[in-house]
Amino acid sequence: MANKRTARSAQVIATRWVTPDLLRVTFGGADVGSLEPEFTDSYIKLLFPPAGAPYAWPFDPEQIREQFDRALWPVTRTYTIRSLDRAAQTMEVDFVVHGDTGLAGAWAKNARAGDSIGFLGPGGAWSPDPAADLHVLVGDEAAMPAIGAALDALGDRPAKVFVEVSGPDAEGGLPAGADITWVHRDGLPGHALVEAVRAAGVPDGDVRWFVHGVAEMIKDLRRFLFVDHGVAKDHVHISGYWRIGMTENDWQASKRDFVAEMEATEAVAQQGR
Ligand SMILES: Cc1cc2nc3c(=O)[nH]c(=O)nc-3n(C[C@H](O)[C@H](O)[C@H](O)COP(=O)(O)OP(=O)(O)OC[C@H]3O[C@@H](n4cnc5c(N)ncnc54)[C@H](O)[C@@H]3O)c2cc1C
Repeated sequence: MANKRTARSAQVIATRWVTPDLLRVTFGGADVGSLEPEFTDSYIKLLFPPAGAPYAWPFDPEQIREQFDRALWPVTRTYTIRSLDRAAQTMEVDFVVHGDTGLAGAWAKNARAGDSIGFLGPGGAWSPDPAADLHVLVGDEAAMPAIGAALDALGDRPAKVFVEVSGPDAEGGLPAGADITWVHRDGLPGHALVEAVRAAGVPDGDVRWFVHGVAEMIKDLRRFLFVDHGVAKDHVHISGYWRIGMTENDWQASKRDFVAEMEATEAVAQQGR
């Protein structure tokens, strides 16, 4: 059986706009049917040959690494598995299409039935805790697929959702009946979302938090949760999915320093209390 480091293949079956900013791509194929995602935030890493690469999918990433300079190695982009139907061998992935910038968003916009792409994974880390009183799920469009998968898993169990989207036309794409506060972008991405979550406060009880999206928002909400309210770290799953002005390569390369700096600032702020 293929492991997580083996490149697998997915064929585009169909695409459809879930909201004006979010494009759902349905993939199929035997490799898709063989996936066993363990978490609601399970993700895959799509493989893109960089511009000018003398190869196209299908390829063996390990062989490419041996054969070519680093500049020609495949570039990865991370995407949540919104849903998987193993029997039908289909998987839905929702792509934020953010203008004409970026590799993956632009690829999805131009994807047509019959196209194939390679991917690695799945990885993942978090699922709702069945014993918790309440889940608070917070994110922007990039986190909507993971929030949607968590809501599917939660069913009727209590959840409060805060999602930032570009405006009223971009609301939608999450399970009907969920308690969702739609926040409209105002200023920099994430700013309005931080304000909304702060204004709502920290609910009482045994609460689990899932908070993902633009890195700048994560910084502010970590401070809100850990410094201002002393929420237990193991009750919170929080990280930046992307960063303003950075490709995923640049963001992943700088993420460790970004997190270390945030943690140091939080530690100083906590000592001062
Ligand atoms: C675990 C995980 C799961 C993720 N799941 C999803 C998912 O299901 N769907 C999804 O769409 N994204 C998801 N993301 C985020 C996604 O990997 C990044 O947004 C990625 O940078 C998009 O690649 P790109 O090639 O389109 O843009 P890049 O080439 O990486 O970036 C080009 C430019 O676009 C900007 N940019 C990147 N993402 C966004 C955005 N969302 N909105 C506005 N501008 C942006 C960058 O800041 C940069 O300036 C996930 C990330 C992680 C770590």
